[in-house]
Amino acid sequence: MSLEEKSRLIEATSLQAVSRKGIEQLYLALFKMTGGSPTLRAATSVCKAVERGGNVVITSGFTIMSAGRCETDGLIGSVVIGRLLNKMGVHIVYLTDPKYLSLFETLSEASGLDSFQCHGFPIGDELAEKEALKAIIDFSPVAIIAIERPGWNRKKVYHNMLGEDISDHTARIDYVFSQAHERGILTVGIGDGGNEIGMGNILQAVLENVTYGSVCRCACRGGIASVTKVDHLVVSSVSNWGSYALTALMASLLNMSFEHSSSNEKKLISAAVNAGAVDGMTGKSVAKVDGLGANVNADFVMRMSRILKE
Ligand SMILES: [Zn+2]
Repeated sequence: MSLEEKSRLIEATSLQAVSRKGIEQLYLALFKMTGGSPTLRAATSVCKAVERGGNVVITSGFTIMSAGRCETDGLIGSVVIGRLLNKMGVHIVYLTDPKYLSLFETLSEASGLDSFQCHGFPIGDELAEKEALKAIIDFSPVAIIAIERPGWNRKKVYHNMLGEDISDHTARIDYVFSQAHERGILTVGIGDGGNEIGMGNILQAVLENVTYGSVCRCACRGGIASVTKVDHLVVSSVSNWGSYALTALMASLLNMSFEHSSSNEKKLISAAVNAGAVDGMTGKSVAKVDGLGANVNADFVMRMSRILKE
């Protein structure tokens, strides 16, 4: 099998593992646009961008309103890709909501990162716009990657999948993507719902296929569909899985080993929950990601690794 075929098989495996309303339509819309595996295209571009090392900004962290805490999805994906990037000589800057700094620090250490820093980004609109330019200048990233990071809608309002407004809990990191785009810095987005940074690439498909996509339940009435675009979008059933696929493909392209295993997956889910993260579906402190038990997540990692070894 070619790497293109393996990548498409991994994408199909992710979509088959859980039935989530609308996700297949989002993937098909994306595939139609890219004309080949979106994840492999993203992996190829990231590898090229980090050829000479440098800094990569990774942003994640999605607040679950019922718990007032960060969900496990996105968080774990961001440390798994961070670890490989470290091995490639890249320094990681995690950009998240101020209250999740220690969570990202704890998880980064638990997953063995040795070159990283965590930076809290402001929630207020005016300050965020100024800070976005400062972040680009201070960190001078060669690439910016969003994993399960809320993206604003056409009215610059952030929403969860229930159609509720989460803007008061969400740092306005979309400004950093606008700045990066203007400067030709590579941008990547990974999502599983339609309300994340990057989904602007397939806006029409989100409006048509996702519940509350076009009309939300908050006063803005603008829908949960994010309008923020990226150079490369990855769509997966679970955003962590999209990140694992991207990481594994980057490792394959560079003949490096992909060190994330099913046992490591279980370990990181436990570490995330112990550090304060919650299951995105229920808001509870249980070893789950998007309502899926640790075994289901570990099984995806195993199936993906098998495909890559074929
Ligand atoms: Zn709204």
